[in-house]
Formats: sequence, structure tokens, C-alpha cells
Amino acid sequence: MSDNAIPFLDLMTPHRELEEEFVQLFREALRSAQFIGGPQVDNFDKEFADYCGAKYSVGVGSGTDALRLALMAVGVGAGDAVITVAHTFIATVEAISQAGAATEFIDIDERTYNMSADDLARYLDGCKKDSSGRLVGNRTGKPIKAVVPVHLYGQPADMNPIVEIANQYGLVVVEDACQAHGAEYQTFNGSWRRAGSIGRAAAFSFYPGKNLGACGEAGAVTTNDESIARTVKMLRDHGQVRKYYHDLEGYNGRLDAIQAAFLRVKLRRLDTWNSQRREAAARYNQLLSRLITGTAGASLSVIAPYEPESTKAVYHLYVVRTKERDALADHLKGCGIHTGFHYPVPVHLQNCYRSWGYEKGSLPATERVAAEIISLPMFPGLTADQQQRVVAEIQAFVEVGVSR
Ligand SMILES: *Cc1c(COP(=O)(O)O)cnc(C)c1O
Repeated sequence: MSDNAIPFLDLMTPHRELEEEFVQLFREALRSAQFIGGPQVDNFDKEFADYCGAKYSVGVGSGTDALRLALMAVGVGAGDAVITVAHTFIATVEAISQAGAATEFIDIDERTYNMSADDLARYLDGCKKDSSGRLVGNRTGKPIKAVVPVHLYGQPADMNPIVEIANQYGLVVVEDACQAHGAEYQTFNGSWRRAGSIGRAAAFSFYPGKNLGACGEAGAVTTNDESIARTVKMLRDHGQVRKYYHDLEGYNGRLDAIQAAFLRVKLRRLDTWNSQRREAAARYNQLLSRLITGTAGASLSVIAPYEPESTKAVYHLYVVRTKERDALADHLKGCGIHTGFHYPVPVHLQNCYRSWGYEKGSLPATERVAAEIISLPMFPGLTADQQQRVVAEIQAFVEVGVSR
């Protein structure tokens, strides 16, 4: 990458200042040979639970593990159906399948790109009951057990109505908080709660590129429910509480002690990094609001993210929407500015799920959004100059686009 290129994500700079501390932690791990479990994992579990405002956190091997074990621990299993969105990373859906359940997709809100509470209500209202009176999914005919809202891009889904509707139908809510470490949501009574403390359980990923990232794979399940926390602890460790006595069939889904040690150091910086992301988002918003998007009748708009009053997003990604997103990405790439699409193909249209029978057009908002979104460079340490350059190049593109 040339010197004045702007990366999509910079994972190197934040580690430079932590290098000595991490080397020291690695040395301690080697000297104590404490690689699995132990005080680093227990302490991280406590500190991350506190950070999220949840009673418990259980460190696991990845965000995908966290989702699967959380679903299993709340009682999702073979023969059940789970409702979620298709505008997400595929792991949300893989975890549902791996827990033995079937997925029922609903559409998103086109302003927030998160699960539409209206569509959830409409969908459930249209579901039939089976002979034992259980509500069953439209596609699969299987009893619906849970709803998984995804806090995509670091912005909490609209949890007040989602939890209320789920309660009304006796469904469990499991948050996919894999992109939302530290994001906040204002509940009915006016109090602000962090992602991971609102549903019955929540899943976090510490994949290196996430707002809180390990130096390898890691994840966590948070919950306020002691029995769920206990079950996840067993599931992550082959279903045992006591070595070689297995009350459940579990997994090898533990968090490495070295990753826990690194994560404890980075957790102390998370609020600072998140505020830097929020500041960068505010700056992008301001720069984009001055974009001149067309003259003489022609126009190409670039829509900035919408953040409702009831949420404080942590901008894991900063995503704008425009009709010419492929061409815009090419133009920016030509100027050394790297972008991404999150995600270009919604999960219900992925080849691996073709047998599920979802047709093009079955989730219209999801499909429109997936074709028009582009994620701009976003990371702590992104400078105002870099952001000005990004938006200046968007301006240049919009002008050419309009005269074309
Ligand atoms: C990253 C991510 C996951 C999966 O996490 P891994 O740690 O990569 O297994 C799940 N859901 C969403 C929305 C994610 O962004």
C-alpha cells in the first residue's frame, strides 16, 4: 500500500503501543504454562460482564461458538425454528443450524439496516399453530423458539419492541452483539443499557477486526441468568463441571488464557477507541451533509447512517448507501481508498442455502440494501485529513456520475 493510501481497517497501529505489554503476558503464560482456563480467563469473564452491565460472561472460542452455545443454553435444539435477519454475517445463521434448529428470515428496517420490529410482529401474526398449539414457522413448519436480532455495524437493534413482541409470543431473545461491544440502547424506562445485557443471552466475537479484538480467535456469551451461564460454561468444556464427568455432551469451545490476557488489556482501552469511532462517524456525517449531490435535475445521493435517538452506536463499520456503489468502490480504490461491502449477498440468497427455497424478492428491503451499501474506512486513529480525502473523492465521483 502506498504511503498516502487509506486502509479500510488499521490493526497494526493500536498494537504498537501494546507490544511490550503483550510480550510480557506471553512470557508469563509460557513460564506458568497456564494456557487453558485459569485466572486470566476468570478475570476476563468478570471484567467483560461488568463492562456490558450483565451479571455473567463466559469466554469461548469465537463469536460463532458464542452464538451456538448461547442458543443451546437457552433451550434451542433439534426440531426448533429461530427467527433472524438475512442482512448479517453468515455465522448468525450457521450457529442456528449447528444448534440443530431451522432459520426463518424476516426483513430489516431500511433506515437502521437492523431487524424490523414491524416485520417481526407481522410475521408472527401470520404464523399458524400446530396440533399441540405451538406457533410454527411459515417456511419450515417447526415450532418457533427464539429471535436473534443482530446489532449490525455496532448499532443496537430496536430492542424495546423486539423484546416486547417476543415476550408476547413466549419466544427467547438472543442478541448477536458480535459487532456491538459497548453500544448502548435506551430501554422503556429511560435507562441506557449496553448491548449484551438486554436479551436472555448475547453473543460477542473478539475476532481481530472487531471493536474489541483478540490476537486470534475468541468470543463470549453474556447473560443475567445464572443457569444459562452455568450451561455455557459446561458446553464450552465438553459438558463437564468436574474433569471427566460429563453431564452434557459439549464442545471444545474454550477461550485461550493468552487471548483472555490480551483482551483484558484491550478492554481497558475500548471506551477510548469507541469514542474515537463515534467522533469519526460524526465527522463523516458532517462532511457528507455538505456533499453536492447533483445539478440540473440529475443527482446521485449518498445516504449517511441513521442513528435513532434511542441508540448510541459504536460504529464497528461506517456504512453509506448509494445506487452506484460498485462504481464508487472502484473509483475510491483507484485513489488508494479501501472500502468493503457488508454484506454483498444476503444470507437467504447464498448458494449454500439454496435448498431452503428463498426466492429473489422474498426480503425486499434486505435485497435493496445489500445492493447499495458500501463501508468506508473506519478505525480508531482514522484522521480528519483522511476522512476529508475520502469525502472529497466521493464528491469527485458524484460529479462525474451526474454528468455521465
Ligand atoms: C464476526 C461476527 C460473527 C462471528 O464471529 P466469529 O468470532 O468470527 O466466529 C457473528 N455474527 C456477526 C454479526 C459478526 O460480525
